Amino acid sequence: MSDLKTNEDVKKSLNFIESIVEKDLAEGKNSGRVQTRFPPEPNGYLHIGHAKAICIDFGIAERYNGTCNLRFDDTNPVKEDIEYVDSIKEDIQWLGFHWNKIYYASDYFQQLWDFAVKLIQEEKAYIDEQSSETIAAQKGTPTQPGIESPYRNRPIEESLDLFKRMNDGEFEEGRMTLRAKIDMASPNMHFRDPIIYRIIKHPHHRTGTIWKVYPMYDFAHGQSDYFEGVTHSICTLEFEVHRPLYDYFIDLLKENDNYRPRQIEFNRLNLTYTVMSKRKLLQLVKEGLVNGWDDPRMPTICGYRRRGYTSESIRNFIDKIGYTKYDGIIDVALLEHAVREDLNICAPRVSAVLNPVKLIISNYPEGQVEMMEAVNNPEDPSAGTHRIEFTRELYIERDDFMENAPKKFFRMTPGQEVRLKSSYIVKCTGCKKDENGNVIEVYAEYDPLTKSGMPESNRKIKGTLHWVSVEHSLPAEVRLYDRLFTVENPSEEKDRDFHELLNPDSLTVLTNCRVEKELANAKPYDHFQFQRLGYFNLDPDSKEGKLIFNRTVSLKDTWTKVKDKS
Ligand code: ATP
Ligand code: MG
Repeated sequence: MSDLKTNEDVKKSLNFIESIVEKDLAEGKNSGRVQTRFPPEPNGYLHIGHAKAICIDFGIAERYNGTCNLRFDDTNPVKEDIEYVDSIKEDIQWLGFHWNKIYYASDYFQQLWDFAVKLIQEEKAYIDEQSSETIAAQKGTPTQPGIESPYRNRPIEESLDLFKRMNDGEFEEGRMTLRAKIDMASPNMHFRDPIIYRIIKHPHHRTGTIWKVYPMYDFAHGQSDYFEGVTHSICTLEFEVHRPLYDYFIDLLKENDNYRPRQIEFNRLNLTYTVMSKRKLLQLVKEGLVNGWDDPRMPTICGYRRRGYTSESIRNFIDKIGYTKYDGIIDVALLEHAVREDLNICAPRVSAVLNPVKLIISNYPEGQVEMMEAVNNPEDPSAGTHRIEFTRELYIERDDFMENAPKKFFRMTPGQEVRLKSSYIVKCTGCKKDENGNVIEVYAEYDPLTKSGMPESNRKIKGTLHWVSVEHSLPAEVRLYDRLFTVENPSEEKDRDFHELLNPDSLTVLTNCRVEKELANAKPYDHFQFQRLGYFNLDPDSKEGKLIFNRTVSLKDTWTKVKDKS
């Protein structure tokens, strides 16, 4: 199948968000302007779910000649930090997107305050002195109206005075809140006099101690969209029930012009065998259950980057899963499939032996070194070749030898021929064991007429093994990763402790690996295919003389199996 799309295909493949935007444009809404925003709260690192939001927010702007701004939704100083602001910027850029401007919800604290004062003056908001527990208990249920607060009809002047004194720091946190006065019997629970301001004494990472009251999400988000001129405010499905409140505040704020922002919701990304909430990811980091936000087992953008995922593969994956109105959970195998597809095209092939045993080619001259030509990438002839040293003593994988092998073992076993990749065909002649019966050396004889490229090299041989030279290879550490959790959807296991669900074998560190000399020049994050083993990258922990690799993904395409089953 071709990847080239005709105009017709492109039209057909519009997602529902693109269709909405095109309809708005056709109707001349907002004077034909398209403006979106990506609004993270700087309270953690971005995860792959955020990548889905980023792709649509920036993607819509790119597609319709609009702009996309980055807005930090920094309305809760207790949880937010500049470290997160910086990491968010880095991750968006790494994914390949460019914001128009950077805004902060905290830029609007004065405007939001003024708007709140206006609502009090219009008897649309009041100071409630009840605790948040009492307020919650009075909310009612979707079928039962709530109970009105005894403070609901207090004089305007009293609320104005208290609101000001709240911000002067006169009251302790939780002592009182500002609530919108809407409808305690509304079938939409969010209309039952929502809290719109609360007292927080913790200093803010940008505004310091100027403010002691902070707006709630519902009182900041839509208004920020409005102040900035956002036309399409794209978010996840859980905000669908907030939309009427979003529109309610916009109506009160809106001037008499033709502009208004519109909220559109899509299904959030959930992936199997991981969690996707910043709160839980923070817990993993804080409790030392992983080695930081960029631990290669984390579903964070920086975790995937360190693991060796490319930004292309993440974008291709997001493109494949698409945007709908139905929540679900995506098989992580689909993401692995996307990275394999991309690395297959761009990763040079090299040789590495993870669990080495010595192979001695007994009829090969001692001290002789032959430079073998190894193809860098069979998918890309322009990638050329590199040279690898062939010597009498080699390392092969321990698993590739078996003394008493079953019939279908097409690897190294006495009496059988195998091809050594890019070099000769050799015949195994036996092995040497230590006193405990462990194999310590394997022996073989090579056929000098079978060097790759020679006519005899066409002999039909079932197995091809990778190898490195004992003398010329380099020591390396290799980190193998497995799924972080043992259950498909950890967030659904409400009755079980989070810790019980962690996979105790999610990280395996191999310290005796050998890699070909070519890898001495590798730079952190460089991608490789280790022949027959998988895709790997160089970890930034590597130092001069100490190479450390991460396994990004194995070669086996488990996704194909998944597809075949369905
Ligand atoms: P979390 O629930 O993980 O803490 P959040 O929703 O609080 O995330 P924000 O920083 O508020 O995180 O999110 C910024 C944007 O990213 C929002 O528009 C939000 O809807 C979107 N987003 C968050 N998680 C996902 C996800 N799993 N899939 C798609 N979009 C997401
Ligand atoms: Mg949020």
